[in-house]
Amino acid sequence: MADYLSESDFVMVEEGFSTQDLLEELTLGASQATTDKASAFFVADLGAIVRKHFYFLKCLPRVRPFYVVKCNSSPGVLKVLAQLGLGFSCANKAEMELVQHIGIPASKIIYANPCKQIAQIKYAAKRGIQLLSFDNEMELAKVVKSHPSAKMVLCIANDDSHSLNRLSLKFGVPLKSCRHLLESAKKSHVEVVGVSFHVGSGCPDPQAYAQSIADARLVFEMGTELGHRMHVLDLGGGFPGTEGAKVRFEEIASVINSALDLYFPEGCGVDILAELGRYYVTSAFAVAVSITAKKEVLLDQPGREEENGSAPKTFVYHLDEGVYGIFNSVLFDNICPTPVLQKKPSMEQPLYSSSLWGPAVDGCDCVAEGLWLPQLHVGDWLVFENMGAYTMGMASPFGGTQACHITYAMSRVAWEALRRQLMAAEQEDDMEGVCKPLSCGWEITDTLCVGPVFTPASIM
Ligand code: PLP
Repeated sequence: MADYLSESDFVMVEEGFSTQDLLEELTLGASQATTDKASAFFVADLGAIVRKHFYFLKCLPRVRPFYVVKCNSSPGVLKVLAQLGLGFSCANKAEMELVQHIGIPASKIIYANPCKQIAQIKYAAKRGIQLLSFDNEMELAKVVKSHPSAKMVLCIANDDSHSLNRLSLKFGVPLKSCRHLLESAKKSHVEVVGVSFHVGSGCPDPQAYAQSIADARLVFEMGTELGHRMHVLDLGGGFPGTEGAKVRFEEIASVINSALDLYFPEGCGVDILAELGRYYVTSAFAVAVSITAKKEVLLDQPGREEENGSAPKTFVYHLDEGVYGIFNSVLFDNICPTPVLQKKPSMEQPLYSSSLWGPAVDGCDCVAEGLWLPQLHVGDWLVFENMGAYTMGMASPFGGTQACHITYAMSRVAWEALRRQLMAAEQEDDMEGVCKPLSCGWEITDTLCVGPVFTPASIM
């Protein structure tokens, strides 16, 4: 198995240190923010990703995880997941190129975009990427011409009307149209090997997975009847990335395991995959964003005074990142990002109604409103946690910033666990390289076990 990640890719930290500590050191190192350019920067705990992976394997032992590249394609993430033996789910040529560039073999890539450009289908064919998804007849026609040896996975729709981010509005074929599509594929000599679905991100009901697995079983039967060799079931994504999610990962895993036992029992010869994005990376990343401008606004409220007798006021803070950049979750996921203050305010410190705004010169670039914060200053850093999913690559063009810098860290414990898993995979001569869970118990602790052995200035 290839070595994708090396010790030079991250800062090795010891027991008892947290990403918060790391951020604090880095923001101190960058405290010339008031006078200099002060771009937002991320800190990523790669050990948290390793831990999530082991936990996934423990909870869903029959499911082979693929990572959804568009969720966060930063090099540290791709390398650590490659090292763990994951497959990769790509939506376009750029993503396929990216993962192949770090050495991922074609056999570990799924081109999971049901509606593809012909040139990109040809690219997949040229690069040996065989597994492609589809949900319509036009796509079959393209594949016949451009990638006749492709192995197609039929993407089925589901009722995701309660999910925060719906995919079935755009992708997926209803159950009633599946037979027709499978027949068309057969007539065109296109090989259909399986079924995929996506319950949508932020799905409030784990039973949605059970329903889709039951539907997939029906489609497997139709496919087999028509002579397709159906052997891939792709459970899609939608697994939560944080502890505080409405539905817990364990609940989803339990529903999936029961449904798999019922509809795709062990030994049935079906390869079960999932395409995970936010599960792996959300909580591993925190971002520090600096205040670039500040405005004090007196509120015109006759008769209302602050405790000290002054007129009530609110503070408007401008940041170097906004909703068109790394805070796009405000627009798409309806999330209100709340900063973690580097210094906890004292009991005596007054709190003021405050709002945070991005750099775009428009009234929509509001990151958060209605926050109660102590008075902050230009050059202060605000830290936001759980910023790993769908934020990178979105660094705001309005502030003229480049992609945000990322400092990767990993605890020695995590690094050693990763090395042990690599050795175990090699010993098993596991050509797929997907690891079996280590039962050291380490993967279920939630704190980052790390310690500073670096100079912040040298890693910024
Ligand atoms: N699979 C497909 C086809 C997707 O489009 C996405 C995200 O949009 C995912 C998986 C990952 O979803 P999540 O980040 O919720 O796991």
